[in-house]
Formats: sequence, structure tokens, C-alpha cells
Amino acid sequence: MKIESIEYEAIKRVNLPELLQGYGLVVKASGPENYLTRCPFHEDKTPSLSMSWKKGK
Ligand SMILES: [Zn+2]
Repeated sequence: MKIESIEYEAIKRVNLPELLQGYGLVVKASGPENYLTRCPFHEDKTPSLSMSWKKGK
């Protein structure tokens, strides 16, 4: 399965993993600033969407 990647550098103030979990997505941390989740854009049985997200300071 293809791994997709999205960078959320524009979203600084939102806790994105919590936001996505609020939509019922399962979000797993794969690193301090990296998360894996099932792609919300299509049927996805295993987490194939990698998100790189940096917290606001
Ligand atoms: Zn997808």
C-alpha cells in the first residue's frame, strides 16, 4: 500500500491528532512530530497516511 504524506506546518495552534481523533480517526504517533492515520480520503484498512506536524511555540 502506498504511503501518503501530508505536512501540516501551517496548522500551528491546533492539536491535529486530537482533532482527527475527534472525527473518529485512529492516530498513532510514529515519532515526536510524526503521526500515522488511516487516510480520510478513501477506504483505508491500515494506517497509510503519514503526517508531519509541528506544534506551535
Ligand atoms: Zn488516500
